[in-house]
Amino acid sequence: MNIVNTIQEVREQVKKWRMEGLTVGLVPTMGYLHEGHKSLIDRAVAENDRVVVSVFVNPMQFGPSEDLESYPRDMDRDAALCEDAGASLIFHPEPSEMYHDDFSSFVDMNTLTGGLCGKTRPIHFRGVCTVVAKLFHIVTPDKAYFGQKDAQQLAVIRHMVSDLDFGVEIVGCPIIREEDGLAKSSRNTYLNPQERQAALVLSRSLKLGKQMMDSGEKDTKAVISAIRSEIEKEPLAKIDYVEIVDWNTLEPVETVEGPVLTAIAVYIGKTRLIDNFIKQ
Ligand code: AMP
Repeated sequence: MNIVNTIQEVREQVKKWRMEGLTVGLVPTMGYLHEGHKSLIDRAVAENDRVVVSVFVNPMQFGPSEDLESYPRDMDRDAALCEDAGASLIFHPEPSEMYHDDFSSFVDMNTLTGGLCGKTRPIHFRGVCTVVAKLFHIVTPDKAYFGQKDAQQLAVIRHMVSDLDFGVEIVGCPIIREEDGLAKSSRNTYLNPQERQAALVLSRSLKLGKQMMDSGEKDTKAVISAIRSEIEKEPLAKIDYVEIVDWNTLEPVETVEGPVLTAIAVYIGKTRLIDNFIKQ
């Protein structure tokens, strides 16, 4: 497995693979890899001849008061995980390689990005779409792998690919959790032991919401209210949002019908965590 830092090196490698008739999968990440990322890489390795993992903490998707500087990084560990999983190449660029000084073009979206995480993170999805579009141009993958953990991101990327005719198949992958239910996240590392315990309220409250829907509750207000009450019982938790939206449009719905996404964002102390489930 190779680790490269420049766009040119990626292009040269992919060109060689293409000349051999090989297929290429891409797993975009911000690094500090865990089992969630590994599940994407495993799937990509199973479905493609070669797999590129990008490790890039993308400054463009962080707001001014967010955790760009403190975001955890450990390239040696990431490289070992990718190698073990059977990835062929890590693309680990510096921000200056991705954004030259006079960079001024962006990919923006009028729908899907205003609600949910877009409300508290207004510039986030413009940064995500722009960097993913660049990665698609650089790597030209056949398939790209995204986790349902970031459900809004998955929906946004699918929409971008359809709108802008990227010839890339987007593969959505299920949420990987710790044994006690907490969704795996690089940001879990910010939690002290007390907060780590409190963070279980995310998966616990969603489980409650899912049970209500599974037993026939169709009124989204009732489900949202039950989830909120469960979260409010936890003193270290502060709700950012609890929403139930149409899984295709991400617009709020009053009734549970067709595929709906129940998504929450909760501060545990200073750490903002997200989790969700989709009812088909
Ligand atoms: P990140 O490094 O947090 O930007 O995540 C990179 C990719 O891994 C995204 O597509 C995430 O949705 C996915 N991912 C992160 N955590 C998980 C998880 N617990 N289960 C499944 N996919 C995940």
